[in-house]
Amino acid sequence: MTAQQTPSQFDISGRVALVTGSSRGIGRSIAEGFAEAGAVVVLNGVDPERLAATQAEFTARFGAERVFARAFDVTGEAAVVAGIAWIEEEVGPLRILVNNAGIQHRVPLLDLALADWERVLTTNLTSAFLVGRTAARGMIERGVGTIINVASVQTDLARPTIGAYTTSKGGIRNLTRAMTAEWAGHGLTINAIAPGYIHTEMTQKLVDDDTFNQWILGRTPAHRWGTTADLVGPALWLASDASAFVNGQVIFIDGGMTVVV
Ligand code: NDP
Repeated sequence: MTAQQTPSQFDISGRVALVTGSSRGIGRSIAEGFAEAGAVVVLNGVDPERLAATQAEFTARFGAERVFARAFDVTGEAAVVAGIAWIEEEVGPLRILVNNAGIQHRVPLLDLALADWERVLTTNLTSAFLVGRTAARGMIERGVGTIINVASVQTDLARPTIGAYTTSKGGIRNLTRAMTAEWAGHGLTINAIAPGYIHTEMTQKLVDDDTFNQWILGRTPAHRWGTTADLVGPALWLASDASAFVNGQVIFIDGGMTVVV
């Protein structure tokens, strides 16, 4: 029997989706793509003003009944538990979680302070465990849910000066596998998307650096930086039933960077 994908398999309308770190950058684009596909989106970030501005723009386009926002720090256990509880009570059962919030800190390992190492690991990796664990409790009870962790090409590759980041994104791969091992049997799908070099505020300095920019263009088979829009289609696919039997995978969205030397 040939299973043919029909448009309805990609339908996520009405599903409640939390995208952490969605006040700007990649998270914002993924949340926008979800809202365009009919989902009820919950925006998140730490800066309340930036979050409110994004919420206002989304509300104007998609309506207040499909756009919510909750500022909380994804590294704080109590804040995460309260944030997810608020969503479940005020918005509805959480169906889709994107663990996207993350930071970069560029310093050679020999000069890297322990506090900065810990800040990067906590923000990029421990947060995905904390938000994922809290969200999964309700999803497991209901027997359905999708978690998308945001990895990176640095899940597979290292570069000088970003040791803590590379370590955190490598951890995201195995956290995705660990979640799958324990939760797939309860009806959850957990995968990761691994963006290549995407033009956002996080990478603006690199885009402005001519030498680095030329290196990216030469090193990427697609000969360009990625855009945040490049990540929306894969995220939508992973959030929908079209990917129901895809579990524990890291999907690289990098213009081919990780398959060439
Ligand atoms: P940006 O710096 O543009 O945005 C980061 C977002 O995360 C903001 O919304 C920020 O909120 C939020 N955030 C940061 N810390 C916290 C926290 N402790 N709690 C809650 N929210 C927080 O980043 P990008 O869009 O570039 O990156 C998003 C994700 O994609 C990250 O995980 C990153 O590692 C990953 N990635 C990025 C790539 C790139 O080339 N840009 C490539 C590969 C992966 P606020 O606005 O309030 O500060």
